Amino acid sequence: MIIDGKKVAFSILEELKEKVKKLDKKPGLAVILANDDPSSKVYVSSKEKYSLDLGYKSCVYRFDKTITQGKLIQLIHELNENPDINGILVQLPLFSHLNEDEILELIHPKKDVDGFHPVNIGKLYAGLEPYAVCCTPKGIIKLLKAYNIKIEGKKALVIGRSNIVGKPVASLLLNENATVTIAHSKTKNLKEYTKKADIIVSATGHPKLITADMVKKGAVVIDVGIVRQDNGRLVGDIDFEKVKDIASYITPVPGGVGPMTIACLMENTYELFLLQNKR
Ligand code: NAP
Repeated sequence: MIIDGKKVAFSILEELKEKVKKLDKKPGLAVILANDDPSSKVYVSSKEKYSLDLGYKSCVYRFDKTITQGKLIQLIHELNENPDINGILVQLPLFSHLNEDEILELIHPKKDVDGFHPVNIGKLYAGLEPYAVCCTPKGIIKLLKAYNIKIEGKKALVIGRSNIVGKPVASLLLNENATVTIAHSKTKNLKEYTKKADIIVSATGHPKLITADMVKKGAVVIDVGIVRQDNGRLVGDIDFEKVKDIASYITPVPGGVGPMTIACLMENTYELFLLQNKR
């Protein structure tokens, strides 16, 4: 079965829209763009559009190369204090002269809508409830649950160990009682691991890394990778056309994990709003 991320994301957003309509005050999301990367510009515009569609207050701060670390620090302090802003997102990467780690750590953990602050990461690893869970990993677990895919007791293989996808998704799967293995670029004989896995989550950005002969019949295959080819087509890590005949469930690219990321960002903003406005 092909997992329809667009459909699941749409239903999350529709539900949010109804909840937001009932609020007197609206959730506020601030997005900071301080890089020249064309994809980042597209992502930020999309975040702005989704925020406005939901009726959120949306503030986008776009900077050119003249932005200094000091000015960015000052902005984060102001946003931390601003009661109309519930979520702060720094689009990564930042210009190379800026210190990303310092900026991310300055965001108040209760406004850290991306779930990247060490406090939120630490809570995730400790099996505690973070104020916000990283959006893509959260979206993956939601997709599995939307299709009633059992996680507990399953052998899950996560390919990729980045701080934004691989490690947090492995923690979430572990918290759901899967037996988790993490593979990366130095893993020898990847096939040995993929062949045993009941659930494969691949997040490498390496097109067609996972071929049909590497997948166990009936496995659940989640493709996080997104690479734009020269012909403009988006492809993932999985050889989708061939693997779909072997997997029990599989996500397409595009239309799988991608739409869930933005839906979870919007949901995180709403949840942080509730957290900050609870009496
Ligand atoms: P990243 O920081 O570059 O990490 C890639 C990971 O893949 C690294 O841990 C790397 O291992 C591992 N890797 C690379 N080649 C490998 C190979 N041949 N075999 C096994 N492991 C390999 O990337 P990321 O930010 O996690 O993103 C990964 C992909 O997901 C990208 O295509 C990105 O565009 C996509 N993505 C999609 C969404 C979405 O919403 N759908 C969100 C975020 C990212 P080492 O650690 O050893 O280098």
